[in-house]
Amino acid sequence: MIDNNKLRNFAIIAHVDHGKSTLADRFLELTHTVEVDKHADQLLDRNPISRERGITIKLAPVRMHYTILPSEESKVENHDVLTLNLVDTPGHVDFSYEVDRTLACVEGVILLVDATKGIQAQTIANAYKALEKNLTIIPVVNKIDLPSAQVEKTRQQLVDFLGVKQEDIFEISAKTGLKVPELLETAIRLISPPQITDKLSEQDLSALIFDSYYDSHRGVIAFVRVFVGKVKRGSKIKLASGGKVFEVNEVGIFTPELEPSDELGPGEIGYVVTNLKDIHEVRVGDTLLYHKSEVGAVPGYRQVKPMVYASIFTTDTADYLNLKRALEKLYLNDSSIESLPIYSHALGAGFRVGFLGLLHADVVRERLEREFDLSLVLTPPKVEYKIENGDFYEPYVRLMILMPQEYMGAVMQLCENYRGTFLTMDNKNQISISYKMPLSEMISDFFDRLKSVTSGYASLDWEFVEYIKVKADKLIILLNEEEVEEFSEVVVQERALEKGTELCKSLRELIPRQQFEVKIQAKFKGKILTSERISPYRKDVLIKSGKVVGAGDVGRKNKLLQKQKEGKKKMKMVGSVEIPKEAFMKLFKKEDG
Ligand code: GDP
Ligand code: MG
Repeated sequence: MIDNNKLRNFAIIAHVDHGKSTLADRFLELTHTVEVDKHADQLLDRNPISRERGITIKLAPVRMHYTILPSEESKVENHDVLTLNLVDTPGHVDFSYEVDRTLACVEGVILLVDATKGIQAQTIANAYKALEKNLTIIPVVNKIDLPSAQVEKTRQQLVDFLGVKQEDIFEISAKTGLKVPELLETAIRLISPPQITDKLSEQDLSALIFDSYYDSHRGVIAFVRVFVGKVKRGSKIKLASGGKVFEVNEVGIFTPELEPSDELGPGEIGYVVTNLKDIHEVRVGDTLLYHKSEVGAVPGYRQVKPMVYASIFTTDTADYLNLKRALEKLYLNDSSIESLPIYSHALGAGFRVGFLGLLHADVVRERLEREFDLSLVLTPPKVEYKIENGDFYEPYVRLMILMPQEYMGAVMQLCENYRGTFLTMDNKNQISISYKMPLSEMISDFFDRLKSVTSGYASLDWEFVEYIKVKADKLIILLNEEEVEEFSEVVVQERALEKGTELCKSLRELIPRQQFEVKIQAKFKGKILTSERISPYRKDVLIKSGKVVGAGDVGRKNKLLQKQKEGKKKMKMVGSVEIPKEAFMKLFKKEDG
């Protein structure tokens, strides 16, 4: 068992792109965990999509060894070899629960701030999480090698917004490695070793799950931090929530590959092979306990729930089964995805899938298309209203926006336009402002608008707060009196007319003329709000550019009729109206982009 005084657990937190994975690379090299120049950049970011997009979407733990000189402060004698467990965290807000659980597993954090950007929304959100947990925070200004680095300004922001002391702030370049060795030494000195609670009994165990994934051969593998007791192969343990009991197949550490070890003792971070077949039984935030345990679960568990929903169809209906299999595969590995089979008259069989946020939806779509070679139609993501006794409840989020002062007026106006309610403001050499806003508004084009009114300078963090009773109802889109289910959705009263008008207008443009008049209407609370019409068109293919095809021209006449028949197959009937499938796709695309 590792002496806990020789153990340090810490994480790197930052806003997206401020250099977490790059700094992790330097630490891995410094500790000879990997060789310089013999690894890919941002090594801990192994997901190809996250690499390309330059954002970490999955946390990654690694164990390193480091020999430190003896000193009073570090509680280290001789030339002790320390074991360091580092967790690189995902920076994007959709995955903030993972960050939250990661922070529950460590004693300290390195808080990175990109000197060319200054502190941004997730810098603050994540730093607050660390403060709440009483973790040691080491503030670091990164990218000081860049000519555009504003080191002084960034230092001042750290002082103003997070109350750190000037003299505690590190200035580094994660890229060149400047001052990184000193940073690591300081982290080891300042971050306390894990505290070990007295063991209750020989077999007791309490280990927090901070991530998990599914391996087709070995079942679910849980990433854990042990708080009490130890876990090893053959241990009989249970999951605190749900009470599922299982026998451990293997335990081990991250090198960052999985490397089996004899046991995981108190304070250690490692993995447990559960042999369970369903990742939804082994959820992030849950605790592993000895099966007859007296110890309680680590507090803070909650089941992450999807926040936005989109319907997914394949462009080629023959691909439906492939989509089904692909979703099942992703589901095995992503405990936050929810999916339900649905049927659309126009687009065929598909799924309604729940996601954590827009980025999560986008990443899943990209994986489905790329890893499973599918061509998909995704409806724009929507929120889910709760309906109780005929009343509608809408999900609300709390937004935090950070921006330079000059944009304050524009941003506040924007928030009001998106049904936001002002909460608080902090005005230092940057402005941090918070608003309460319906999630449905935030996932419309709010973020794009925010970026555009602030020339790209604003950053945004959000969290779900509550459902609020609102005046809402289903906005029903009718084509010649028949509902088009695909376009109908719940909207709040104040948005009904706008949304209805927009949909009717787009449909008028996308639906081809028919042999009869087509009426497009938007109905809300029993009333027609708006309507459009498409005038009829005498669809006689035998009349072409005003000239009747000659009676003698039988071959050509048949050909035209045949062509019309084939065209019909691509049409979807909604009541009596024919709509080309492409119209649906175009409409969804348009709203998407
Ligand atoms: P993460 O999203 O916080 O993990 O950020 P990454 O480590 O992926 O870094 C984002 C980008 O910033 C990458 O292109 C890095 O090469 C770059 N970067 C990170 N640290 C530095 C630095 O100290 N100096 C410079 N010039 N670039 C850096
Ligand atoms: Mg990263």
